Amino acid sequence: MSESGALTLASLAQMLQTHPWNTRPARLNFEVKPQTEWLISVGYGRKGADLSPARDHQSYPEIPQASMRGLLRDAVESLASWYPVALGLLCGAGTGAADFCGTGSSDKACLACRTFGSPLRRGGWYVSAAGLSDLQRALYQQLDPPPHPRDSWDAPTRLALRESLFQRRMRVAMNAELGRADEHKLFDFETAVSDLRLHGFAEERPPLMPDVQTRAADIVALAVSLSLIERVGSHRRKGWGQVHVQSVVLTCDAEQAPNLPLTGPVLSSLAGELLDRPAAAVGARSEARP
Ligand SMILES: [Zn+2]
Repeated sequence: MSESGALTLASLAQMLQTHPWNTRPARLNFEVKPQTEWLISVGYGRKGADLSPARDHQSYPEIPQASMRGLLRDAVESLASWYPVALGLLCGAGTGAADFCGTGSSDKACLACRTFGSPLRRGGWYVSAAGLSDLQRALYQQLDPPPHPRDSWDAPTRLALRESLFQRRMRVAMNAELGRADEHKLFDFETAVSDLRLHGFAEERPPLMPDVQTRAADIVALAVSLSLIERVGSHRRKGWGQVHVQSVVLTCDAEQAPNLPLTGPVLSSLAGELLDRPAAAVGARSEARP
């Protein structure tokens, strides 16, 4: 950070050259706050419902890893399409052809391939699932059954509480061609309630890019992209819901790493700096070093 404490791309890059950031992956912790009830179907129902939200191993609702990664990738691609000069063209952009950045070193790949990988290269970032926060989980786990199910006198309470995270709905499946419902087309489904905070993270995967300018720019591009995510699910019948991604915090996979919030004015200022950058500063990555 600079003397004034304001985080800039340059101070971020400088920070990445110092311990522990120079050897340990940077991590962006974030929180997904559903604004509506939501559903990301995993393709099978549960307890008779035709569609159910994805659940983690403890049966709490979650945004699965692949969905979260897809949401972030879509946001990154949107951002890159709006700011092709500052962020560089994505491969295949404008030509409709897949390129996948098959040549050159990893820091020369386009933003999407560099970050998420392609059939030809491994991505530089891992994106986790977004699941119930540790705090919420602890509250529910207090009511988890004792080791022997026969002792769990409060199991109905616990189950009711856990099931209160979901709502059962019923809807009529529409026949798109006819514009009306066919007979016997009621289907029921479950949604997850909005009153949840889901935590996830994106983290660099070793080996770290040697070019700290690009690392800093990518961190900011990902933080901005996270803030662009507004909805989950892509299909009326397979999933929907509005969300806000908030509390993006840059930290590091190391003991006692500092937490740097990348939200509000800090993110606005970094985003302004990144997106106003001429292509030469981001595009000619290694060569742009002073
Ligand atoms: Zn590419």
